[in-house]
Amino acid sequence: MAERLTGKEVAAAIKDNLKTEITTLSAQGITPKLGIVRVGARPDDLYYEGGAKKTCENIGMACQVFEYPEDIAQEDFEKAVREINDKKEINGILMFSPLPKHLKENRVRELISPEKDVDSLTLGSAAKVFVGDKTGFPPCTPQAVMEILHHYQIPIQGQKAVVLGRSLVVGKPLAMLLLGENATVTICHSKTQDLPLVCQDADVLIAAVGRAKMVKANFVKSGQIVIDVGINEDPENPGKYCGDVDYTDVKPIVEKITPVPGGVGSVTTAVLCKHTLLACKLQNGIE
Ligand code: NDP
Repeated sequence: MAERLTGKEVAAAIKDNLKTEITTLSAQGITPKLGIVRVGARPDDLYYEGGAKKTCENIGMACQVFEYPEDIAQEDFEKAVREINDKKEINGILMFSPLPKHLKENRVRELISPEKDVDSLTLGSAAKVFVGDKTGFPPCTPQAVMEILHHYQIPIQGQKAVVLGRSLVVGKPLAMLLLGENATVTICHSKTQDLPLVCQDADVLIAAVGRAKMVKANFVKSGQIVIDVGINEDPENPGKYCGDVDYTDVKPIVEKITPVPGGVGSVTTAVLCKHTLLACKLQNGIE
């Protein structure tokens, strides 16, 4: 039976480190601050925002929410985002997306400076992740996967990593992060042939497809590490969530596995704060 890799333990370790670093910074008169930009009040956004605010509070990081009505005009929203970006005390910006349809999201995203872009919304950040420039922040979710691998000391160098999914938010940046740590990376998508066989060949299999319980026993083999990024409504348990991996099917076969909920999703807000602290240090010329 596989070992369960819980996200809570990873998040707690990250937050402990952040708390210590923030205490040191505060003694120098610097308090890192996260700015959250939200248009409307989608339940998913509010849920994530609540978690981020709580994490900030626990570790001594400041956090301010900038909330706008759903029908805000493009011009007014751009002005608001420019002003937030210009605020010296705001070190990192998280903007919820997708924005309402009438807003030109790509234009707004690019108003955020790469040095404050702690969830990788801009092309500048994506480029930095692609070239391995550590001053650029990857999106929080793929970084959360890396934090889990590091925390549980899962070997990456020279290992075969299969990333299931090629989105700009998860699959592609995750592949770059794994490559940056010398894994041999295969990226799979909806047109990949013999998907179960390709997945079986992995040492580390990461599922980010958005298909409830798609990864079954025939996708895995013994000895594998399986990381499940998926968050889907559980078709068998209405009102509950499940991952992209069929946990009950896969757990008896593999070596280690993350649960859903309680896996990757539990680490993302800690990563958001970690990025904001790093942004703050870079902006203040602190190594
Ligand atoms: P997207 O829908 O943007 O991308 C899904 C990817 O999976 C695409 O590359 C798609 O391929 C591929 N795919 C879809 N169906 C199949 C299939 N049958 N076989 C093989 N590949 C397939 O999703 P995201 O990357 O945004 O999210 C992935 C999952 O992660 C979702 O469940 C989402 O809820 C979750 N998520 C979790 C987060 C967390 O904090 N834990 C944060 C962000 C997302 P193609 O490109 O060919 O269409």
